Amino acid sequence: MTRARIRPTWAEIDLDAITHNIKAMHERLPKKTKIVAVVKANGYGHGSIQVAKKALDSGATSLAVALLEEALELREAGINAPILVMGWVPPEAAPIAAKHHITLTFFQKDWLDQVSRMEFDERLQLHLKLDTGMGRIGIRSSEALREILYALNDKPSIYLTGVYTHFATADGTNLTYFHKQKEQFERMLSELKEQWSGEVTVHIGNSASAIRLPGDMYDFVRYGISMYGLYPSQPVKEEQAINLKQAFSLHSRLAHVKQIEAGDAISYGLTYKAEKAEWIGTIPIGYGDGWIRKLQGFSVLVDGKRMPIVGRICMDQTMVRLDQEYPVGTKVTLLGSQNGSFINIDEAAAYVDTISYEIPCLLNERIPRIYKGG
Ligand SMILES: *Cc1c(COP(=O)(O)O)cnc(C)c1O
Repeated sequence: MTRARIRPTWAEIDLDAITHNIKAMHERLPKKTKIVAVVKANGYGHGSIQVAKKALDSGATSLAVALLEEALELREAGINAPILVMGWVPPEAAPIAAKHHITLTFFQKDWLDQVSRMEFDERLQLHLKLDTGMGRIGIRSSEALREILYALNDKPSIYLTGVYTHFATADGTNLTYFHKQKEQFERMLSELKEQWSGEVTVHIGNSASAIRLPGDMYDFVRYGISMYGLYPSQPVKEEQAINLKQAFSLHSRLAHVKQIEAGDAISYGLTYKAEKAEWIGTIPIGYGDGWIRKLQGFSVLVDGKRMPIVGRICMDQTMVRLDQEYPVGTKVTLLGSQNGSFINIDEAAAYVDTISYEIPCLLNERIPRIYKGG
C-alpha cells in the first residue's frame, strides 16, 4: 500500500531527460555499440524500475545492477530484458539467478567450482570480470585466466557470455593510467580468445570512457551517471563533448515564515545570528532525508532567486534567509530549475566535497519520487 503524500517535500524525475541522455550517447557511439542502462542503487536514487523501463523504451538493450536483489526487483516488476549483476554474488544464490535469467559476474575459481556442483533448471549465464588496475574485483593475471577458463570446460549448466573490465581513472585529467588499463585488457582479451572458442560479448566503458572514447567501447557501454544527466567529473563536463539533461530535481514548500531581529539566532548551536531584521523560512527537509548537514551555507531557490541556508540543518527541517516575506506554501527548489534559475547537482556535490553520484543516492526513500514524461 502506498500512503498518500502529506509532507510537501518531493523529488521529480524527468523521464524525458533519460531519453535525451540515451539519444545523446547513441549519437556518439558507433552503430555496433549498444547501451546497458546501469540502474543499481535504485537507479542512482532516481527509481530503478521507472528508469529501467524508460531506458529500454529509449534504445538501451539491457540493464546492469550491483546486487542480485536489485535484479530480482526488476524481474518482479515484469522487466524481461537481459540483466547483468556486476557485484559479487554468494555462490549459493546462483540457482536463483539462473531461474530468472539473470547474468552474474564471476572471477574466482573456487566460486566456479562451487557453483558447478549445483543443480540448475536453466543454464546460468556468466560474465568474466578482469581486474586491469581498478583493484576491486576481477582476475588479475594470465595464470588465473588460464585456470578459470580451463575450469569452465565441460560445465554444461554454465555458459560464459561476456568479459569485461572497469576503469579507475576514466574521468580524470590525465589518461595515462586509463590507457595502461586498456592495454592490459587487450592483452588479456587476446589470451582469452586463444583459449576459448565460444562467442563472448566485450564491454569496458562507463559513462566517462564512453563519452571520451566512444569508438573504443567494443559491444556495450555501461551507461550510469550520464544517463541521469550528470557528468562523471568536472574535466569531462568541461570538454563539452556531450549535452546532458539533469533528470533529478528536489522541491519543497515553506512551512513557516517569520521575521527575526538583529542578534536573534537560528538552530542548534546558534551558528547563525542575524545582523539586522531578516525574514527566515523553514523547509520540511533535513539530514533524516539525506539532505546532509554539510549543506549549511548552500543555497535553495525561492521565487527563482537564491536564498542561503542559515544555521545548522536539523534532522527534519532546514532554515533559509529570505529576501522578503513569502506566504507559507511557497515553492522551494533545492536542486534543479525554478523560474529560469538552476541549481545543479554538480554544484551541491562540489559544495560538500563529493561527487554528483552521491547526492541523489543520499536522498532516501523518505522523499517520494514523482515521475514526469513517463
Ligand atoms: C556503476 C558502474 C558503472 C557505471 O558507471 P558510471 O560512471 O555511473 O557511468 C559501470 N561499470 C561498473 C562495473 C559499475 O560498477
